[in-house]
Amino acid sequence: EYADISLKDIDQVSKSSFPLCMRHLFEKLREDHHLKHGGRMQLGLFLKGVGLKLDDALAFWREEFTKKVGSERFDKEYAYAIRHNYGKEGKRTDYTPYACSKIITSAPGAGDHHGCPYRHFSEDNLKAALGRMGLSSRGMEDVMDKVRNKHYQLACTLTFEAVYGTSCDTGINHPNQYFEESQKILK
Ligand code: SF4
Repeated sequence: EYADISLKDIDQVSKSSFPLCMRHLFEKLREDHHLKHGGRMQLGLFLKGVGLKLDDALAFWREEFTKKVGSERFDKEYAYAIRHNYGKEGKRTDYTPYACSKIITSAPGAGDHHGCPYRHFSEDNLKAALGRMGLSSRGMEDVMDKVRNKHYQLACTLTFEAVYGTSCDTGINHPNQYFEESQKILK
């Protein structure tokens, strides 16, 4: 069991324990102060799975979005959807974070940042991102080999093994599983 993540730790934890799909969304949100709907859903539900409480989630999205759209529009257009994801609005369904299979088969359009980088990035962008995660050129080649054979989750598993220097026998099938396995190692 890992401790719930609080707002003050989130930047550090995003660098140490998020899989590439979530690191990318997180960085884009910090950079652009905005994410489109698909990205808000993918990252928002992941963060909920990581243990970010509703109040912290609202503060987190508010901090970025108000820089772009102002607080009135944030409250009117975006806060409801965040509470909705936490089961506090509408049908009060408790929505679960997306698994890799769902993310890999999503089809991000122009300006979207959701999806799986192993599936949806260009080769150059993926290599640059893997370099920022600290992979050696040898490790990177092993990952790219899986990508070329369309084994995206295996590519992510190899990345995990390279980053943490340990084997991941179960393989990666869910971003929240990646997060939890990494927290176990870093503890
Ligand atoms: Fe995210 Fe899964 Fe793709 Fe890894 S394989 S980047 S966890 S969607």
